Amino acid sequence: MKFATKTIHAGQPSEPETGALVAPIFQTSTYEQEAPGQDKGFSYSRTNNPTRQRLETVLAELESVQFAAAFSSGLAAENAVLQAYARPGDEVIIPLDVYGGTYRILNRVFQPTGVVVRQIDTSNLKTLEATMSPRTRLVWIESPTNPRLLINDIAAIGRIAHARGALVVVDNTFATPVFQQPFELGADIVVHSVTKYLAGHSDTVQGAALAKDAAVFEPIKFLQNATGGIPSPFDCWLTMRGLKTLELRMQRHEQNATAIANALNGHALVRCVYYPGLPNHPGHDIAKRQMTGFGGMVSFELDGTKDEVVTFSSSRRYFALGESLGGVKALICHPATMTHASIPAEARAELGLSDMLIRLSPGCENFEDLVDDLLQGLAEIEQARSARKPAAAASRR
Ligand SMILES: *Cc1c(COP(=O)(O)O)cnc(C)c1O
Repeated sequence: MKFATKTIHAGQPSEPETGALVAPIFQTSTYEQEAPGQDKGFSYSRTNNPTRQRLETVLAELESVQFAAAFSSGLAAENAVLQAYARPGDEVIIPLDVYGGTYRILNRVFQPTGVVVRQIDTSNLKTLEATMSPRTRLVWIESPTNPRLLINDIAAIGRIAHARGALVVVDNTFATPVFQQPFELGADIVVHSVTKYLAGHSDTVQGAALAKDAAVFEPIKFLQNATGGIPSPFDCWLTMRGLKTLELRMQRHEQNATAIANALNGHALVRCVYYPGLPNHPGHDIAKRQMTGFGGMVSFELDGTKDEVVTFSSSRRYFALGESLGGVKALICHPATMTHASIPAEARAELGLSDMLIRLSPGCENFEDLVDDLLQGLAEIEQARSARKPAAAASRR
């Protein structure tokens, strides 16, 4: 079965009793048993639910493995993976511009339990090798990273981690399985914020954790039930509805991102554009090798002032100012004050996360409308500057 067919058919047969093409939402907490302990595979919906099971089946198929567990958020999925594999004394390696929430859960929730967090430039393999120790349990990476869209070489990182007995976790939220298959590159665990591209319509918060090996998956599955961070049947159904157009949507997101990256690249008011599809992007060659597309996100640094960044990002016609990404409706975000505000200013500066950085999540709109909207915003900055100039000159007189 090819990818697009899986999104529509895997785990989603018509309902046998009535023939309903789309299976109903199994909105139930419990199940009637024939005799004590004799159920039909479902005993209580925290443990298992038919709608959630369908979602888990299709998610596993899309990442080309057998095991997936759905969670109530991406961070609930991360929490289960970390509870399973980051015990007191263990070391976890994370990239410099790791997702802010991953940084926070590791530093504020797991570090106090005795987990050692090492934040390094994981794209520098020598640094990674030097940081690995016998206590390294997890090498946790994103590629592309958030928000600068830097690329980590998953296969090379996998070889280094596996040689020292560590597991590799890949947060595949940005690339999605449409453009990147981390398990084929050597990942042991994949996590998703399903909230983003997978569900794709900015109408639900969900997560998932997947594994290739049954033994690696088992403690994650145990924690899904034992700690209970499960999504509702309705949310699972919404995600399955969204998934059916995942490939189509990702193709459009990528077309839009490419058009925007090309339009911003070289603009007088743009200091730099971060998009893995641009040949001048530092990770372009690795991205070409490990991805089948460059994804739908674009970030750029405005060559301007804080006020201009604020005005630009708050007054776009099509890009709503908001956290999150990956929906059909375009979003714009200022990471320093929004998604990455939980990282202290000093640490942000060290990570190269500029206050001038703007992150775009183009939706499935027409690319000309999106590009025009951004160029219009830049033109407004130029107009405002030249309107101020004579006034400033006058006040000096
Ligand atoms: C949003 C996000 C998360 C967290 O997922 P939630 O669904 O918001 O809990 C994790 N990783 C990345 C890359 C994200 O963008």
